[in-house]
Amino acid sequence: MAFGHRYTGLIDRYRDRLPVHDDTRIISLGEGNTPLIRLNNIPRELDYDVELYVKFEGLNPTGSFKDRGMTMAVTKAVEEGSKAIICASTGNTSAAAAAYAARAGITAFVVIPDGKIAMGKLAQAMMHGSVVIQIEGNFDDGMRLVKEVANTSPVTLVNSVNPFRLQGQKTAAFEIVEELGRAPDFHCLPVGNAGNITAHWIGYSELAAHTGEHVTEACTFCRGHCRYAGGGVAGQRPRMVGYQASGSAPFLRGAMVDAPETVATAIRIGHPQSWDVAWKVREESGGWFDECADEEILAAQKLLAEKEGVFCEPASAASVAGALRDIRDRKIPEGSSVVCTLTGHGLKDPDAAIAQASREPIKVRAELEAVTRAIHENME
Ligand SMILES: *Cc1c(COP(=O)(O)O)cnc(C)c1O
Repeated sequence: MAFGHRYTGLIDRYRDRLPVHDDTRIISLGEGNTPLIRLNNIPRELDYDVELYVKFEGLNPTGSFKDRGMTMAVTKAVEEGSKAIICASTGNTSAAAAAYAARAGITAFVVIPDGKIAMGKLAQAMMHGSVVIQIEGNFDDGMRLVKEVANTSPVTLVNSVNPFRLQGQKTAAFEIVEELGRAPDFHCLPVGNAGNITAHWIGYSELAAHTGEHVTEACTFCRGHCRYAGGGVAGQRPRMVGYQASGSAPFLRGAMVDAPETVATAIRIGHPQSWDVAWKVREESGGWFDECADEEILAAQKLLAEKEGVFCEPASAASVAGALRDIRDRKIPEGSSVVCTLTGHGLKDPDAAIAQASREPIKVRAELEAVTRAIHENME
C-alpha cells in the first residue's frame, strides 16, 4: 500500500459495486478488510488435505460482520433524511446500529430479548447511547414488533430485511475472491436469519456474472464499469453451507421453530427473515444446511482459541464445527478449499468463554517460590 493511503471502509473501496452516489455522505467506521486466516494446527490433525480458512469478521469495528451491512443501511437512511433507525437484535445488530447511529448523529432504537443477550453486546448498545428497549419475548417477537413500528413511525428499519444491509455484507465475498484469486470450493456460515449466507451468494454471483459463466444475476450497480468486468477473476462460485444450532434449526426442520434455544445466542432465531431466498441459495449453489449441537459449537470455539489463537463467539464457531464434521465425513472432498466465516468476536460473550475455559486461574501467594512451583507443575 502506498504511503499516505488510508483505508476508509468498504463503501469507499467497493463504491462502483454499491448503490451510492458520488455525493453520498458515507457513514463509516473503517469496517471490512478483515483477515482471511489459513488454519494450520487444526487441519494438521485431520490427516486429510484441505485448505481451511477463517474469515475473521470479529475484527470489524464493533466486533461482528453486522458492521458491513450497517455502514450501508445507515448511509442510506441518512441520505433519505431519516433521523432515527430501529432494529430487533440478538445483540450484534444493536451494537452496530448504536455505533453507526452515533457516528451519523441520529438516534438508534434497539429492541432486544429479555436476558439471553451477551454482556459485551449490551454494553456496546448502552455505551453508544442508543435507546435500549428490552422486551419480555425473544428475537422473533422483537422482529415482528419493529416491522410494525417502522410502518407507522418515522424510523428506518435496519434489520437485514433492509436491502442495503445485504449489499454491504456481500463485500465479504469480494474480499475473499481478491485474496484467494478465485472463489473457494465451499463457504460455510452460521445461519440465523440467513441474511449473511444470502449476501455472500449475491457477492459471489456478481463476480461470476462478469466472467460470462453462471450469469443468473446481472451486476445491478456497476453497469459493466467495475473492476471485475471482463476480468475473469471468479468464474466459479462456492457451494454455500449453512449451519444452525440444533435447538434453533428451522432450516433442518423445514418449518419455523417457536421456542428456539441455544447457547449461541446470535443464532437463537426460529423465524428466519430470509427463509425463501436462503433455500434458493442452497439449491443454486449445490450446498446444504446442517445442524450442530451446542456442545459441538462450544468445542469448536475452544479449539479455535486454543489451537489457532482465534477467539470467536459461540455462534461463529458453528461454521467450523459443521465444516470439520463434513470434512471428516468426506462430504467435503479432499483437496477442497473451504472458507468459514467467523461472524463475531469472542469478547462479545465473556460469560460463555469463562464457563468453558480449560483452566481456572491458579491462586498462589505473591512469592517467588509459589509462582515457580505453579510454573513447574504446569509445564507441558
Ligand atoms: C447475526 C449473526 C449471525 C447470523 O447471521 P444471519 O445473517 O442472521 O444468518 C451469526 N453469528 C453472529 C455472531 C451474528 O451476529
